[in-house]
Amino acid sequence: MSETARETLGFQTEAKQLLQLMIHSLYSNKEIFLRELISNASDAIDKLRFESLDQESLLEGQGEYAIHVSVDKDAKTLTISDNGIGMTRDEAIEHLGTIAKSGTANFMASLTGNQKKDAQLIGQFGVGFYSAFIVADRVEVHSRRAGSAAAEGALWISQGEADFTIESKEKDSRGTSITLYLKDDCADFADDWRVRSVIKKYSDHISVPVMMAAVEDAETETETESESESPAWEAINEATALWTRPKAEITAEEYQSFYKHISHDFDDALTWSHNKVEGKLEYTSLLYAPKNAPFDLWNRDMARGLKLYVKRTFIMDEAEQFLPLYLRFIKGVVDSNDLPLNVSREILQKDGAVESMRSALTKRVLDMLTKLAKGDEYQQFWSTFGPVIKEGLGEDFANKDKIAKLLRFSTTHIDSDTQDQSFEEYLGRMKPEQDKIYYVFAENHNTAKRSPHLEFFRKEGIEVLILSDRIDDWAMMQLGEYQGKKLQDVAKGDLSQQSDEAKKAQEALEQSSESLVERMKAVLSEQVESVRPSARLTESPTCLVVGDFDMGAQMRRIMEAAGQTVPKTKPVLEINPEHPLLKMLDTEVDEDKFNDLATILFEQAQLAEGGQLEDPAAYVQRLNALLLKLSA
Ligand code: ADP
Repeated sequence: MSETARETLGFQTEAKQLLQLMIHSLYSNKEIFLRELISNASDAIDKLRFESLDQESLLEGQGEYAIHVSVDKDAKTLTISDNGIGMTRDEAIEHLGTIAKSGTANFMASLTGNQKKDAQLIGQFGVGFYSAFIVADRVEVHSRRAGSAAAEGALWISQGEADFTIESKEKDSRGTSITLYLKDDCADFADDWRVRSVIKKYSDHISVPVMMAAVEDAETETETESESESPAWEAINEATALWTRPKAEITAEEYQSFYKHISHDFDDALTWSHNKVEGKLEYTSLLYAPKNAPFDLWNRDMARGLKLYVKRTFIMDEAEQFLPLYLRFIKGVVDSNDLPLNVSREILQKDGAVESMRSALTKRVLDMLTKLAKGDEYQQFWSTFGPVIKEGLGEDFANKDKIAKLLRFSTTHIDSDTQDQSFEEYLGRMKPEQDKIYYVFAENHNTAKRSPHLEFFRKEGIEVLILSDRIDDWAMMQLGEYQGKKLQDVAKGDLSQQSDEAKKAQEALEQSSESLVERMKAVLSEQVESVRPSARLTESPTCLVVGDFDMGAQMRRIMEAAGQTVPKTKPVLEINPEHPLLKMLDTEVDEDKFNDLATILFEQAQLAEGGQLEDPAAYVQRLNALLLKLSA
């Protein structure tokens, strides 16, 4: 087949699925396609502006950038043309036929088939070019890469089904022209006024002028004007980059529509922060916190970072050097007056100015979140991004305190699994003599809440934070303390919060249970470091405790699941000698029965904290044997 002939190619599987979903799920929000296509056109112009900095020939002598939008009511078509970077034939095949984002297959698998839910998810994935098929049943993309010959133009056509065709077609002007053949019930997008109002609504802030044919005024129209004369064009948007305008002049709607332009998010942003910095370093930043997590939030290689501009010229997307990893969900723009136009990712990594901007921008984001934390919307933010913010406790030492103030927990003090209590609130309720902040940690809220370790605290009326995010154990170790109060895992170490009275009782208990303890130690010496009577327990027979500096059972499981070898440290078994089962054990003279019951009690302590038994079948056998004896 010759290079120029028409080929029919299939969409990549994921692209095909996304296309179908897009068409069906986003139908109630049709007009966003225009925002997406104009956004792409503006990106294409930004790219050319950047590439032409050191290759002026790409401009082909035409450096006026614009996006032209035209409609044909009779033919029911809408055309969006840009004079940006354009695409070669191969690029059109690749960019319009496949989805390059990593994790796409996983994302597709997470879709539910429920249109409403999926529409939300697609928003998180980022709608883009394919949104054209919401309103069109045929899309033609005629494109030519800037700097290449007219003959190298390519025409891409698809009906939005399984495949598309690509052929060579001459194109005089550089850039891309996209024609939508509108579905019958979307014909209103061939109406001049309708299109103008949608563009005004979504694309006003785009820095490139969006032009439409000037509407002729019937009264001034003269007979002599020839029909074939090309129409006069007029810009219908503001065409100044939003972030360069003074804050006071920008409306919330404008901020929101700009957010959608840079994020391709479907939903509004939760909040934003717009700042101009003058002095040693000069730059403007506009940072947004989204409402929803992006589909790939947990993929550490996810595309992240800010759009970088230098003196209003677009330089690159996803400049990740300006924010730390734990703020990877923040979207926005940074426009520097100091960086060179030819700055590369490598330079960004080493540049001192970038380093100071990064720390200033990090503070900006944390301040923005601190402000958000004062309002009702914070709960939504926290439930979506809380675990990511906690990563910052290990990653961003300098801002530990700020981050700690953003944390929210559920606690034994409030009967709800909503994480909505701050350290400050906990401190406010703390007992006067209390010098530690206590927390219990398990794989899920219910296991944590029912942990035997809490019995002592319940009895004493001491509040305990209930932690059940995977990262929590690690995060608390990173933080270590808050406002001079040590963070104490209730499953670790000795309890020092004891009154003299309690200490005396404890000593008495130790004496009275000495022989039981010794017998149990002998049976369980392989599994536990030691056995001791417990100050923690009031209801449960046993629990496990690890040393203050040892890794908790949860953390160990997580590390092991991640394939890490974790040094083995044995826990201490704490027993409640007042418990009927322990009393029974104490009087058991048959050594075999003693062994079985002691082992079962140890295994139950493991189960109660959500752990797994080394030999569950043996546990079941032992327990069943005991049950049978009950009925005998
Ligand atoms: P995204 O913009 O998120 O990458 P899209 O589906 O909107 O995803 O577009 C896919 C790709 O197609 C873009 O990344 C770009 O390379 C190319 N593309 C789309 N529209 C244009 C255009 N008007 N000019 C040049 N390239 C374009």
